[in-house]
Amino acid sequence: QKTRVLLLCGGQSGEHAVSLMSAQSVLAALPASHFEVTPLVIDAAGRWLGRADTARVLGGAQDSAAPVSSELRPYEVAGFDVIWPLLHGPNGEDGTVQGFLTLTGAAYVGSGVLGSAASMDKVMTKQVLASVGVPQVEYRLVTRQAWRSAPESVRIAAGSLGYPQFVKPANLGSSVGISRAAGPEDLEAALDLAFSLDRRVILEAAASHKPRELEVGILGNDAPQASPVGELRFEALFYDYTTKYTEGQASMHIPAPVPAEVAIRVRELALTAFKALDCAGLARIDFFYVEETGELYLNEVNTMPGFTTTSMYPKLWEAAGLSYAELVTRLVELAQEER
Ligand code: ATP
Ligand code: MG
Ligand code: MG
Ligand code: MG
Repeated sequence: QKTRVLLLCGGQSGEHAVSLMSAQSVLAALPASHFEVTPLVIDAAGRWLGRADTARVLGGAQDSAAPVSSELRPYEVAGFDVIWPLLHGPNGEDGTVQGFLTLTGAAYVGSGVLGSAASMDKVMTKQVLASVGVPQVEYRLVTRQAWRSAPESVRIAAGSLGYPQFVKPANLGSSVGISRAAGPEDLEAALDLAFSLDRRVILEAAASHKPRELEVGILGNDAPQASPVGELRFEALFYDYTTKYTEGQASMHIPAPVPAEVAIRVRELALTAFKALDCAGLARIDFFYVEETGELYLNEVNTMPGFTTTSMYPKLWEAAGLSYAELVTRLVELAQEER
C-alpha cells in the first residue's frame, strides 16, 4: 500500500515562489512506486486551493476552469498518511501550520510547534542558543512600537553595535527585508523596511566585513546526523534576495574548503543547536566563518530550507551519499516515526 502524502506549498509569506519551486522538485522525486502525492497550493491570501487550481498554479494541468470556491478547508487534511508543509517563512515555517497539523493528529515532515517557532524567530533562536554556549554575533531586539514612540532609543541600540550592521525582520527568510547598514545614515530606511514586514526586528553586528558563509544539513529526529559542510560564494556584499535567486550569482562548494577542525566544530554546533531548539526531521544551519581570526558564529536555523534539486540542503546530503529521492523518502519516514 502506498503512502499518501499531502504536499502543502506556496503560502502567505514573501517566500511563496521559492516554496512552489521546491514543491515541483519534490513532486517529481517522490517515487511513484511507494507514494501517492497530492499537492495543495496555499495562495498569497492564505486560501487552500483545490486540486484544479493547484494544478494550474504548479503548471501541471490544462484544467484551469475551476472556480476558487473549490478551495479546500484546512480540516480536509484527513485521509493522508503524512503531510509535508513545504512552506517557508511566517504562517508556514513558524509553528502556525505545525500547530494546526498537530491538532488534526496528522504525521508531518519537519519540526513541531516549538522547534519551528523558536527557530523562525531570530531573536528567540539567539536567546536559546546562548544558553547552550553556541557562539553568535552581538545583537539587539527592537520593536515596531519602540520605533514609533521612541526612535531615539532604537538609534542608540543600533549605535551600540557599530557598523556595518544588519537590520532584519525577526521572522522571515530568503533575505526578504534585510539591509546592510554601512552607517547611521542607512538606519531609517532599513528600519522602515524591516518594520513593514515584522513587529520584531533584530539588529546584528556584522560577523566581519565579509565573512565566509558555511551551511550544514541536519537530518533525523532524536538521533540527528550532520551532513558535510558546504560553502556559498558570491560577489555581492551580502547574500541578498537577488544573489540567492539569480542563476549564476552564487556558487556552492561541497565540501567547504576549510580546515578539518572548522568543519568538525560546525557540525557539532549545528547538532547542539538542533537539539536545543527541539527541531525534528530536518534543518539547514548557517554559519559565518572569519578566516583571519578563526572565529565561527552560528547565524540562523532554517527548519524548512529551500528544497529544489539544486538547493544547498539536498546537495549536502547528496555529498553524503543520499540521493534526492532517498532524502525525500527518508523525511517522510521520519515524519511517521514515534518521538
Ligand atoms: P535564508 O534564506 O537562509 O533563510 P534569511 O532571510 O533568514 O536567509 P540571514 O541568513 O539571517 O537571512 O541573512 C541573509 C544574509 O545576510 C546572510 O547569508 C549574510 O550574507 C548576510 N548577513 C546576515 N547577518 C549577517 C551578519 N551578522 N554578519 C554578516 N553578514 C550577515
Ligand atoms: Mg533564514
Ligand atoms: Mg529560510
Ligand atoms: Mg540564511
